[in-house]
Amino acid sequence: MKKNAIIVGSGLGGLSTALRLTTLGYQVRIVEKHNTPGGRLNTYSEKGYTFDLGPSFFSMSYEFDELFSSCNMENPLTYQQLSPLYTVNFAGSDRKFQIFRELEKLAQEFQDIEPDFVKKCQRYLAGAKEIFHDTEYRIVKKNFNGKLDYLMSMAGVPWKHAPAMFRSMWSELDNHFDSHEVKVIFSLVAFFLGATPFDTPAVYKLLNYTELQHDGYWSVKGGMYTITTKLVEELKRRGVEFKYETEIVRVHETNGKVNAVEDQHGNRYTADVFVINSDAASFRGKLLGRPKFNEKALDKMDWTLSPFTIYLGVKGKVEGLHHHNYFLGTNFQEYADKIFKLSVNPEKPYYYVNVSSKSDAACAPEGCENIFILCPVPDLRFKPDWSDANQLADTIIADLSERTGFDLAGNTEVRRVMPPDEWQNTFNLYRGSGLGLAHGLNQIGAFRPANKDESLNNLYYVGASTIPGTGLPIVVISSKLVTERIQHEHPTV
Ligand SMILES: Cc1cc2nc3c(=O)[nH]c(=O)nc-3n(C[C@H](O)[C@H](O)[C@H](O)COP(=O)(O)OP(=O)(O)OC[C@H]3O[C@@H](n4cnc5c(N)ncnc54)[C@H](O)[C@@H]3O)c2cc1C
Repeated sequence: MKKNAIIVGSGLGGLSTALRLTTLGYQVRIVEKHNTPGGRLNTYSEKGYTFDLGPSFFSMSYEFDELFSSCNMENPLTYQQLSPLYTVNFAGSDRKFQIFRELEKLAQEFQDIEPDFVKKCQRYLAGAKEIFHDTEYRIVKKNFNGKLDYLMSMAGVPWKHAPAMFRSMWSELDNHFDSHEVKVIFSLVAFFLGATPFDTPAVYKLLNYTELQHDGYWSVKGGMYTITTKLVEELKRRGVEFKYETEIVRVHETNGKVNAVEDQHGNRYTADVFVINSDAASFRGKLLGRPKFNEKALDKMDWTLSPFTIYLGVKGKVEGLHHHNYFLGTNFQEYADKIFKLSVNPEKPYYYVNVSSKSDAACAPEGCENIFILCPVPDLRFKPDWSDANQLADTIIADLSERTGFDLAGNTEVRRVMPPDEWQNTFNLYRGSGLGLAHGLNQIGAFRPANKDESLNNLYYVGASTIPGTGLPIVVISSKLVTERIQHEHPTV
């Protein structure tokens, strides 16, 4: 008889694990709290405008290739490479920096502020490349059996990278570049990890290598939600059942094994194996009552920033915007010092803008734009009350109007604002943290919540807050790691 698995959550982690488990011969059922699949990789449509709800691009496209090929199927996605990768606008200046992967072209952007850019950048990226490849299989794509195993793997990473664990990313950039703008632009990746460049270890410069040299950034033809729809189509073909608006609120166990999970209506779901795609830390605290993950302990952990997102459908073409844009203020150090712990400064917001209608006309009615704005803000521990969400949205929209010279408010046909408390409540994101647990050295590898439960033999975890970490391709790797564990511990043959 076929073994069966229940997956709790239909985020990218849950969907890609389902694909891998069906390939191994498992019968899979997915239960999802929300009314659509995809988790954060979701979509929103209104009046002919379509928006990606969360992610708008990804790195390491080959991880999706690996997922599909190892599951014996053709890759159903058509990738589109981002070129330029993005555009950066600093407040108080009309100048825009276009960030190209081609170093000669990028050098032209900085020619008057960063002499010898190509040479400096090549030196910087050479170190980043070595760190990436020296840790890829030893640390990132590896299951660990405890801290000793992890520390042994770390010991296998060439020693020469050790200083980069203890130096900050900012000081590393400072050692290589002179201009403030180059340092700020290259350090933006640190915020994805849940820290600032001033307290992120320099090893994470490997992210600059992934964006500028290794594989770059990609989106998907038809919009990012195509990833979810194509996965769901294939899973249905394989007989996977989906149950929406079904939140697991209780876990039933006997003799060190889960025998059922129970939803909010009291329905129980039994299986041989259970995979949790809900946040791996807060699930352990809230549903399993583990003291190490109780609310006090969770609140002491480091979490990534919360998303404050705005979806605008606008009449007219906004010439001042490209497909991917960053709008930054002029007080970077002060911003970095305060953004995680205090509150967002509405006078000087830092935000990202994506306009997918620039390259995909189907996303908006003719002659119109779909504008997605993401302003990272402190999580709900630091700002629990979002009754002022519309005021902050107005400020950001006014700032963007001024900086693009286009009256956005006067041409708005669709407007939706999604503050951190809505992100929290929609997808069970702990304190509204957008990317899950942060990636300081104390919260990665064996120090991150494991993908196998500490005491329940058939309970596993996949997704952003377990290993290896957050971001779409990394979550795909997470599904590979957890499937390898399941295959080893609960073989189908
Ligand atoms: C605004 C925003 C922008 C982002 N941009 C990018 C980007 O450009 N590129 C990139 O690579 N990454 C980006 N990310 C990060 C990326 O979205 C995540 O790392 C990834 O989608 C996480 O997938 P997951 O499967 O771990 O979790 P999720 O997508 O959160 O899926 C978990 C699912 O489990 C469900 N669930 C939770 N608890 C329960 C329960 N008890 N019972 C039933 N169901 C439950 C949730 O509803 C959800 O559907 C962004 C994130 C946000 C929020």
